[in-house]
Amino acid sequence: MDHTIVLLGRVIDAVGEEAVENGMVVVRGETIGYAGPYDEALIPEGAERLTCEDATIMPGMIDAHIHLTGAESVHRSGDTPYDLLLTSVRDLGDLVDAGVTGVRDMSAFGRVLRDAVRKGNIRGPRIMAGSRVLSISSGHCDSDPFRPVDQCNEEDLTGFMMDGPEACYKGVRRQFREGAEFIKICATGGVSSAVDDYNDQEFSEEELRVIIGEAHRHNTYVTAHCTGTSGTKAALKAGIDGVEHGVMLDEECCEIMRENHVPLVTTLSVSLGLADMKNLPAHMMRKAQGVREHAMHSFRLARQYGLTVALGTDYSNSENTPFRHIGQEFYSLTRCGYTPMEAIRAGTANGAKLMKREKELGTLEAGKLADLLLVKGDPLRDIRVLSDAENVQLVLIGGQVLKRGPEVRHVL
Ligand SMILES: [Zn+2]
Repeated sequence: MDHTIVLLGRVIDAVGEEAVENGMVVVRGETIGYAGPYDEALIPEGAERLTCEDATIMPGMIDAHIHLTGAESVHRSGDTPYDLLLTSVRDLGDLVDAGVTGVRDMSAFGRVLRDAVRKGNIRGPRIMAGSRVLSISSGHCDSDPFRPVDQCNEEDLTGFMMDGPEACYKGVRRQFREGAEFIKICATGGVSSAVDDYNDQEFSEEELRVIIGEAHRHNTYVTAHCTGTSGTKAALKAGIDGVEHGVMLDEECCEIMRENHVPLVTTLSVSLGLADMKNLPAHMMRKAQGVREHAMHSFRLARQYGLTVALGTDYSNSENTPFRHIGQEFYSLTRCGYTPMEAIRAGTANGAKLMKREKELGTLEAGKLADLLLVKGDPLRDIRVLSDAENVQLVLIGGQVLKRGPEVRHVL
């Protein structure tokens, strides 16, 4: 018989509007057997009962926007891809410790890391492997205009450049060949990029058509980095399936997104915090001004339009984006007028939709995979309890205990 674990505490299932105060979750093998009010009759004999002080049980966090290649590029850091790959193995462990049980990656490492986690070779969240971030030359991924484009494409682990429809066919197919489960492009310039302006539109309509068509023929979607308004709108009109950052959405963008069911991924801790970050290059500091106000306006608008919002962080475990505080993305969304429950749903149930796994992940319901957390504190009263890995006392992925903090105790 499968080992049974019973977690006792307040239950936030990410389905209902409120928490169940005196609740429990029964985990049998890799799945959830029960989630709801405490009921002694439903606890099998010999089950291990666990709780902690002021315990909350909730689904694991899903980060829909991450780059597992880390903060440093091969070119800048002097590290080899092998060094960076090993660093990302450590980073995956840090994600689990912070309560992250699922991620959508956008880098060259997604597929190998995903498979290593699946085989049980390394400790990490479930990974949906995306493509490298596709942009035009002179665009968001053009990290060094003095290196030839082909050399950048061979060396860079996060970005990939393509110009013209022919190159777009080849570039997108190369991503699928390397294991991408979805495609990420840059529809606009960005704040962090060296040579573009964030109001630039990147790919032409013709190129967008090629990229989107190719992804759809592979039965998946294209999600787009979107900063400036006009480039975002052009990409939405061309039919992109997802918007990342959405820093400068206007009403027309939101209307198209509502009409076409296009989800919006937050990265708000970065958008709201950029102006206060340390050791940024001068061009970034200059471009960062005003981003906070734009992003807050965008997300308020998105809420009015009832758009599907999913949490994503763009974190890379750098000095400015430490994984142990990755859960502050929940708080960042509440700063834009979302309720704590809306923020939790964005970081759980809605993330599962973007991973195309909402039938088995993202909520605490009988039959779903047991990816869940035992957190010290009540995030509905103070969402900031999720901002610190220390409060995440227990992490289960597929029913396996991958983190057990010092404050977890047995109940007899
Ligand atoms: Zn990103």
